[in-house]
Amino acid sequence: MLALSRDPSVTALACAPGNAGTAALAESYGVDVAKPAEVAELARKWAADLVVFGPETPLVAGAADAVRAAGIACFGPSKAAARIEGSKAFAKDVMLAAGVPTAHSEIVDNPAKLDAALHRFGPTWVVKDDGLAGGKGVLVSSDFDAARAHALTLLDDGHPVLLESFLDGPEASLFCFVDGTTVVPLLPAQDFKRVGDGDHGPNTGGMGAYAPLPWAPDDLVETVVRTVVQPTVDELAERGTPFSGLLYAGLALTSTGPQVIEFNCRFGDPETQAVLSLLRTPLASVFDAVARGELAGLPPLEWEPGCAVTVVIAAEGYPGRPRVDDVINGGDGRGVLHSGTRRREDGAVLSAGGRVLSVVATGDDLESAREEAYRRVAGVHLPGSHHRTDIALRAARGEVAVPTA
Ligand code: AMP
Repeated sequence: MLALSRDPSVTALACAPGNAGTAALAESYGVDVAKPAEVAELARKWAADLVVFGPETPLVAGAADAVRAAGIACFGPSKAAARIEGSKAFAKDVMLAAGVPTAHSEIVDNPAKLDAALHRFGPTWVVKDDGLAGGKGVLVSSDFDAARAHALTLLDDGHPVLLESFLDGPEASLFCFVDGTTVVPLLPAQDFKRVGDGDHGPNTGGMGAYAPLPWAPDDLVETVVRTVVQPTVDELAERGTPFSGLLYAGLALTSTGPQVIEFNCRFGDPETQAVLSLLRTPLASVFDAVARGELAGLPPLEWEPGCAVTVVIAAEGYPGRPRVDDVINGGDGRGVLHSGTRRREDGAVLSAGGRVLSVVATGDDLESAREEAYRRVAGVHLPGSHHRTDIALRAARGEVAVPTA
């Protein structure tokens, strides 16, 4: 929203449902974005030139299809193409057909078959929910009993379980603009999924990120587009469900090359804040080219030199049950972006979700971007909140490396 608001070609912005931060940049509408007809109706009433989807829920529900059916240009994949994120089993099937490197996996939907299946994997075990879980349905553990218990909880809740072989190596994220056929990559980034410093504690939707990756091989982006993103995009097009929008590849950089951990069908926090804060090219022009299938004619993306670091400030209790309705002070500081916030009638900004704010800063290198990001974090006050103190720290010290074969 911030990047769009800076684009001089954007004359007005509406946002649904919005938060206290977007309310300062756009008109807010209390539309249920999981209901495609409501989204299309808002776009029609508002006479939007372009609808841009942020989260996955409306996309997986088919909101982009409804908007396109109403004759309005749209940045975001169809329901059929959004399955690349909505169903891990579908994503695996596409990758297998396209020859894209990813972890070996099995689906278990019957508790009686669980133990035998677990013995075919691990240690280390990787146990996932085969559905949308906001990055929180995954358990990576070398403890058999913990892996088994997590799988049984998912099965008890009626969710099929995906078991995966463990991928060793640092993680990297690559966002790509895709217009059905053409792929335009953004800068690579790394995010921090675990809640605590040193990668301890449960997985979250992401506690921080940085971009680009000074430690990565020079040809990383080219390799990932060639071996992962383009074959996936081609496979979806061949199936008659072309992908148009933002395709995110979450990767493990193993000794045998990049392997896919997951795909997302949209921008994801907190890498987006880091990557987009370095993008010089006006964003609306890119979204427009994607929506019109004209990415091939777009001039190359332009980037600021240097690095960006994002630190997420989370509510007490996150990623479990977050405490809400606390007053935030300093939420209007430089580089402070809102996630789970709302504005009370008296103007106070309150916490309204697990990940409350993200704080982004750029610098000549990771060290200076980190310093500035944490200086800005210190200016934000939310009772009980927590954040990681080691975002980009190991990379800034030169301690991250891709394992060699
Ligand atoms: P996902 O929801 O699939 O992105 O998984 C969330 C996090 O779990 C990833 O960012 C990784 O840190 C970790 N993870 C998922 N799959 C694997 C795997 N096969 N091997 C190692 N770590 C994994």
